[in-house]
Amino acid sequence: MFKNIILSIFFLLFYINSALAYIDIVYPTSKKTTINAQSTFFVGNTTEGANLTINGAKVKLWNNNFFVKVVPLEYGKNKIKLQSKINGNTEEVIFEINRPKPPKFFKPREEKFYTKDKDEILYTKTIKENATVREKPRKSSKRVVDLPLNVIMYLEGKQGNYYKLEEEGETEYWIHETNIQEPVKLSVKTNAKLKNQKLYEDENYKYIKFYLSHPVLYTIKQNGNTIKLTLHGIETQNEDGTTSPNFEYTYSLAQPILGYEGFYEENMFILKITQTPKIKDENRPLEGIRIFVDAGHGGDEKGAVGPTRVKEKDINLAISNYLIDFLREEGATVVASRTIDKKVGLYDRVDIAKNNNSMISVSIHNNSLPNGKDPYIKHGTEVHYYNENAKLLAEIIQRDLSLNLNLKDGGIHKSSFALNRSTNPVSVLVEVAYMINPEEYMLLQKSEFQKKAALSIKNSIKKYIIIMTNEKNMI
Ligand SMILES: [Zn+2]
Repeated sequence: MFKNIILSIFFLLFYINSALAYIDIVYPTSKKTTINAQSTFFVGNTTEGANLTINGAKVKLWNNNFFVKVVPLEYGKNKIKLQSKINGNTEEVIFEINRPKPPKFFKPREEKFYTKDKDEILYTKTIKENATVREKPRKSSKRVVDLPLNVIMYLEGKQGNYYKLEEEGETEYWIHETNIQEPVKLSVKTNAKLKNQKLYEDENYKYIKFYLSHPVLYTIKQNGNTIKLTLHGIETQNEDGTTSPNFEYTYSLAQPILGYEGFYEENMFILKITQTPKIKDENRPLEGIRIFVDAGHGGDEKGAVGPTRVKEKDINLAISNYLIDFLREEGATVVASRTIDKKVGLYDRVDIAKNNNSMISVSIHNNSLPNGKDPYIKHGTEVHYYNENAKLLAEIIQRDLSLNLNLKDGGIHKSSFALNRSTNPVSVLVEVAYMINPEEYMLLQKSEFQKKAALSIKNSIKKYIIIMTNEKNMI
């Protein structure tokens, strides 16, 4: 019996010592592939303590078993050989990566602008929900507003697939042809009229309701404590007797403005503004503050996958769950997109935040990079926002997080993501660290680090709420 145990231990040690060489490559995902970039990276893991080479050059093994190696690519075929050796045992994997030659330079065809005849009236209306109006006639251009169905508009001309709206002033407004009814020539223009205006409020929001003869293009601009709504094409008499082509409404608060949004209910336009919360206990400013916490990805959406196949969705979830606990401890009312590993649709997440009257939305992610970039150079913390009203929160979270986690400050970025495109709630997306930077990847897997990240974000939200509820603070 005793002999057997000793024998088993002996065999076990022998087995460990002669562990087979293996190479598990997480990225690139295919051995024969095309990559249109000046470099790619090999991300994966191998037998602990093995000697790993890529095209003959030794590769550093982090934690003694995983690697992240940037490999430059030549034009044409690149043969890349990975070899892992341990105890005279060798495993070899060969990749064939094609980097396409650059296309011959060609000048993109400049689309011509066709303008309507001077006396012509070109009428149309939106035929889709979320019909996006942009500042320029292309998809990459800045969004002005997403309009609902049946918004009536008059057109000035067409360039490519976009129509230009007839508008005075410097800003241009363009809409894609698939969003609107085929334009019709009219002999008379029917301007919209403002019939009535009412203020209504409950404990969460102020609603300013504008009763119109028909829906028109609207734009909302925020500047610190002021919101300016423009209802386009509603002719207004000024006090000096002149007329303005648009109706303008300005709303100001003593404190900086949190979330706001505009929308139609049939012919009624509603400007909805989050009420500034009243802090009852100065030591607990988060008491009753409604916060949406989103753990990025989930279910079969893994997000980025690290060198030893730890998934971003799981790290996001761990940090989010700590954040939820920390916020609740301070009395905040928290709703989450998920507290377990499950799939949640992108727009379902936005809906959960809105349906629960959240004031703040924080989405937790961890970063990766496209081919051509170097995770040893580009890494650290980043915070993304889209609207001006989320910039301050993004700045506070970013500064605190990079400081508290002692990570490279990757800055704040204006990014049009589904989860931060809305002005209500105040929405930011946090990329805590990089899944493919070796040191950050190792940190991200530690629960102490995850907790520290969550605690830092909670404290930043607290700071933000104190600033936003203080009348003396002007942004
Ligand atoms: Zn992500």
